[in-house]
Amino acid sequence: MKPKVAFFDFSSCEGCQLQIANLEERIIDLIEVVDVVSFREVMKEHSDDYEIAIVEGSIQRPMDELRLKDIRSKAKILVALGACAHTGCVNKLRNEWPVEDVKKEVYGKANISDNPYFDVFQTKALDEVVEVDACIPGCPIDREEFIRIVTALVAGKKPSIPKYPVCVECKKNENICVFDLGKFCLGPVTIAGCNSACPNFSHECEGCRGYLEHAHMDAQKDVLKKYGLSVKQMLERFNIFNYRKEGY
Ligand code: SF4
Ligand code: SF4
Ligand code: SF4
Repeated sequence: MKPKVAFFDFSSCEGCQLQIANLEERIIDLIEVVDVVSFREVMKEHSDDYEIAIVEGSIQRPMDELRLKDIRSKAKILVALGACAHTGCVNKLRNEWPVEDVKKEVYGKANISDNPYFDVFQTKALDEVVEVDACIPGCPIDREEFIRIVTALVAGKKPSIPKYPVCVECKKNENICVFDLGKFCLGPVTIAGCNSACPNFSHECEGCRGYLEHAHMDAQKDVLKKYGLSVKQMLERFNIFNYRKEGY
């Protein structure tokens, strides 16, 4: 019996689910190991009988929290799909302002006080609400990594994501460091696994895969010092994916 998998989404652009919908011939590798019972983006059928819940998006409202907890209660394994679910991603940018100010800015004078759809709080990643068993990082996710992680979960293994920074892949790819091109880069503190996708094209890493748990911040500070920068300056430039992450 193949494990039953259901996909769910909260606040997101649905781009990570689209990556899966676009797996093309690799979809065969996926359906060989799992039985997809719910996936709103690609099928009409829906079932609440599943073992693995793959959840995209971040949490904005009490009604989202209740729904996520219900999904968690039905799933043996819950996977955070993409940066919105993993870190809160761009949705967390608004946490810089008080919720009431944000509501005023977005909804103006509309009467939203009794409507649960507008009852928003500060954006949360999934693991701020429920236990998350595995994360598939990135904005959007990498399709091959998705297959690798789901296959590992189905085999009862703990999936792993790299514990080293993007710089390692970047050096292997023999790129010119973008700091030497007068740019900033979050590669030294960002989880690898994207094969240094952005620096490969002389673009700065903006940290979409999230920060490493044990980043070498002292070494990073030395690099920034060498280029006349501070951590604060760098994070002010790169607050898209990890807005004001504790510790950095
Ligand atoms: S992580 Fe990026 S691509 Fe994925 S749903 Fe969020 S915004 Fe879209
Ligand atoms: S370009 Fe970025 S990822 Fe590549 S070596 Fe330089 S700091 Fe590291
Ligand atoms: S280089 Fe950085 S921003 Fe680009 S895909 Fe990789 S982690 Fe994301």
